Amino acid sequence: MNNVYDVIIVGGGPSGLTCGIYTSRENLKTLIVEKEVCGGLAGSTHLIENYPGFPEGLSGEDLLAKFKTQAQKFGTEIREFTEVEKIIPQQEVVEVKTGKENFFSFSVVIAGGSQPKKLGVKGEEEFRGRGVSYCATCDGPLFKDKDVVVVGCGNSGLQEGEALLKYVNSLTFVEFLPFITAQKILQERIKKDPKAKFLLNHKVIGIEGEDFVKKVIVEDRETGKIKEIPAQGVFIYAGYLPNTGFLKGLLELDEQGFIITDEKMRASLKGIFACGDIRSKEVRQITTAVGEATISAISVRDYLREVKNS
Ligand SMILES: Cc1cc2nc3c(=O)[nH]c(=O)nc-3n(C[C@H](O)[C@H](O)[C@H](O)COP(=O)(O)OP(=O)(O)OC[C@H]3O[C@@H](n4cnc5c(N)ncnc54)[C@H](O)[C@@H]3O)c2cc1C
Repeated sequence: MNNVYDVIIVGGGPSGLTCGIYTSRENLKTLIVEKEVCGGLAGSTHLIENYPGFPEGLSGEDLLAKFKTQAQKFGTEIREFTEVEKIIPQQEVVEVKTGKENFFSFSVVIAGGSQPKKLGVKGEEEFRGRGVSYCATCDGPLFKDKDVVVVGCGNSGLQEGEALLKYVNSLTFVEFLPFITAQKILQERIKKDPKAKFLLNHKVIGIEGEDFVKKVIVEDRETGKIKEIPAQGVFIYAGYLPNTGFLKGLLELDEQGFIITDEKMRASLKGIFACGDIRSKEVRQITTAVGEATISAISVRDYLREVKNS
């Protein structure tokens, strides 16, 4: 079984790359399969200020490039632009099917993370790429001197909104809840900027325009009053959905589709593990993703010792 990997990791974000660092250092034959380029959600984050060891903060791109270099240094193989479409457990090994080629492994770690939730309102799809965006780091510079709306006042919304403030003429944060859930330090910094305005307890009900976005329609949840916010850009941070579509029927998932594991990161099938944002849990941060990735790598090592010696 020369061409069989010890472990295949699905996803090259913070959790997948960390898992690769640990399994490669254990001399386990490791492959990361990533559907885009490595980095994950964190890789396109403008500024990361809460990852220990970098007191000045650094861009997600720079941080995740270091993760990738470190994994490769210890021997992790990486296939980018290769999407895992199916996982098929066989008697001794697991088959990992991708759109390009199929791989075999003694174990699999699912580190596929999540993707931004859509609002599901009129205009959102129509104006995607023409004013509607889910990534301030990617698209922020296109909105220089424009009026922009950020939907969602969680950490992601405020953090990316702060990055947008550098470019825009005005920034209106719209939040469904009557309060802001983001960390206080972010709230305080943004509230000091005269370009920022908050519209709490409001629901976005539509996005309108012609070739590009021209306005965002919101409803006051208390009074039912409809308002129009003139804007050329809308950045949406309204929560995340797990990338578990390819696992339906294979693993135990929670009601929202996140993977249920035990504390050793073992999923409901033998030889399959999960870590990072794709797990059913409360806190989704890089630090939690890398911690769980470490545990999953050690669990893989112990699992392989067991199955290879039996
Ligand atoms: C706007 C924003 C700002 C954030 N800021 C911070 C911050 O400042 N500090 C912090 O600690 N956290 C921050 N986070 C959270 C952090 O980005 C995540 O917790 C972290 O990226 C999770 O890592 P992960 O590896 O589990 O998942 P992800 O980063 O989502 O990576 C998963 C990877 O798997 C790939 N993938 C998915 N499905 C497949 C498949 N079928 N086949 C192959 N590949 C697949 C994806 O393409 C992706 O690259 C932020 C998140 C957002 C959205």
